[in-house]
Amino acid sequence: MPIYKAPVNDTLFILNDVLALERYNNLPGFADATGDMVEAIAGEAAKVAEEVLFPVNLSGDQEGCTRNDDATVKTPKGFKQAYDLYRQGGWIGLAVPEEFGGQGLPYVLHTAVGEYMSSANMALTMYPGLTQGAIAAILVHGSDEQKAAYLPKMVEGTWTGTMNLTEPHCGTDLGLLRTKAVPQADGSYRISGQKIFISAGDHDMSENIVHLVLARIEGAPEGTKGISLFIVPKFILKDDGTPGTKNGVSCGAIEHKMGIHGNATCVMNYDEATGFLIGAENKGLNAMFVMMNEARLGVGLQGLSIAEIAYQNAANYARERLQGRSLSGVKNPNGKADPLIVHPDIRRTLMTIKAWTEGGRAFTLWTALKSDIAHRSADEKERQAADDILGLMTPILKGVLTDKGFDHAVMAQQVFGGHGYIEEHGMSQYVRDARIAMIYEGANGIQALDLVGRKLGMNGGRAVMALFKEIGDFCEENRNDEKLAFFTKHLKKGLNDLQAGTMWFMQNAMAKPDNAGAGSTDYMHLFGLVTVGYMWAKIAKAAEDGLAAGAGERADFLKNKLITAKFFMERLMPETALRKTRIEAGADTTMELAAEAF
Ligand SMILES: Cc1cc2nc3c(=O)[nH]c(=O)nc-3n(C[C@H](O)[C@H](O)[C@H](O)COP(=O)(O)OP(=O)(O)OC[C@H]3O[C@@H](n4cnc5c(N)ncnc54)[C@H](O)[C@@H]3O)c2cc1C
Repeated sequence: MPIYKAPVNDTLFILNDVLALERYNNLPGFADATGDMVEAIAGEAAKVAEEVLFPVNLSGDQEGCTRNDDATVKTPKGFKQAYDLYRQGGWIGLAVPEEFGGQGLPYVLHTAVGEYMSSANMALTMYPGLTQGAIAAILVHGSDEQKAAYLPKMVEGTWTGTMNLTEPHCGTDLGLLRTKAVPQADGSYRISGQKIFISAGDHDMSENIVHLVLARIEGAPEGTKGISLFIVPKFILKDDGTPGTKNGVSCGAIEHKMGIHGNATCVMNYDEATGFLIGAENKGLNAMFVMMNEARLGVGLQGLSIAEIAYQNAANYARERLQGRSLSGVKNPNGKADPLIVHPDIRRTLMTIKAWTEGGRAFTLWTALKSDIAHRSADEKERQAADDILGLMTPILKGVLTDKGFDHAVMAQQVFGGHGYIEEHGMSQYVRDARIAMIYEGANGIQALDLVGRKLGMNGGRAVMALFKEIGDFCEENRNDEKLAFFTKHLKKGLNDLQAGTMWFMQNAMAKPDNAGAGSTDYMHLFGLVTVGYMWAKIAKAAEDGLAAGAGERADFLKNKLITAKFFMERLMPETALRKTRIEAGADTTMELAAEAF
């Protein structure tokens, strides 16, 4: 049976030693996040993940969701009880302002504990995850009445949220969407159309479901300029604010899909459903982007969280399974064979996942902290600088960590040999669950295009220049520290490749946009390598500082960090050169074949 233990020590090390969270206690909500409090919250979240969500993960995958004849949806056995405990613990509103029933704590803390929940049960965690995204959109774009009517119940988790963008003929290209909204005399709209692939579209865990729906108001312009966003509750609220009449929205079918079986992915039919406009007419995509950006960070976190749980199981198996003898002499003389963990190729696999996952955790928390600064700092310049990095990192975090999440789930499955292919070990579920994160919230190819086509050049390249300077300065400041020289040397090399790739786009993609399109995925991964490399250099510095200060019980933990940092630099970072070479090959051969030659 699979195992899971939340990596609390690693989270605390990143928050305290690498990011020095206490430096930010002037930001709203941070003063409450004292070291003891953060440790207590992480410990409590670990318990919920390990003892409440994880026990129904495999069974939820096996059972899946069912659509009843009356179009309602039943979630797997145990999901509702687990969800109730989760929501009663206040986890949904951890970072939501207190005036709406949240706790106003840092988003970085919400992200840290979100990893545990998603590792333990990705399918179940998506129900509150989508609710959190919908809360974010209503907070930014909802009217005061809408906030008062919907947010407290959503924060409490007695109502959940969804996002409805996709239609049968449009996923990436939302300009094609046809769902229509007809204005009514009372200020509401009648919404009609069909949405597909709607996560958590219907289920039996909450009293009401607040659908956020993109639709085109009659007579609005074609394309993305004519799209508006609506709140369409499953049950229309009565005057006293409680759920009343059933609205004209229902689940037409549940998709039969590869993974996340415990999450109901629904075809949603809107038949003159009552909807309420959020934000301005025809500005729906802007409003939905609040939800999408939040969701993209959440999906990146899913990639990381599945890699982590797959890794833990693979490492455990490699310590126990006896096969073959070590190349350097018998290691288990009392047994007929040595454990898998002695074999260099198994170790290569485990070290690769470990280095990406621990570095990816630092990357995720560092980015989440930028979000806190961007939204909470009193200093406008500081807010802008953090927002620049957040915007730049969002497609990289989503694209790279989910590509890696799937690759690493497969690599961890490989450690199990044939047993990894058998459902009861759970490795198959991780591979299947991880796959979707590369597709939804904008397929990863689209993340790469967002990075190259939009984020790079934004504000004259302000974000990218600032980050290059930050990493370059780090290398320069630590160049003469002999304990860090190894790390800064490799990081600088990676940064040089990234700067060269960036320059190549500037010189070759304006006149020929296919050059940008053909190199975009390599560029996204090149950027991910350098950013995670930067995280490892910061981790190495924190580990060296910790050891110099007399680490006591933490000495082994910190030494292991240095070994893993070294592995990342010498075995993974060199990929930057390959990525740069591919970018510089341009688009010619990629684009040459006629369509019918494929
Ligand atoms: C399990 C599941 C859950 C989902 N949950 C939700 C949800 O809750 N709400 C919701 O609204 N949607 C949801 N989706 C839909 C998901 O977001 C879309 O499937 C995704 O955005 C891709 O759209 P598409 O499937 O129409 O693919 P397409 O848009 O047809 O794209 C196909 C491929 O072509 C690539 N491509 C498309 N256009 C371009 C271009 N211009 N340049 C380069 N490459 C391009 C894409 O990267 C992709 O690889 C879900 C999907 C699944 C499978």
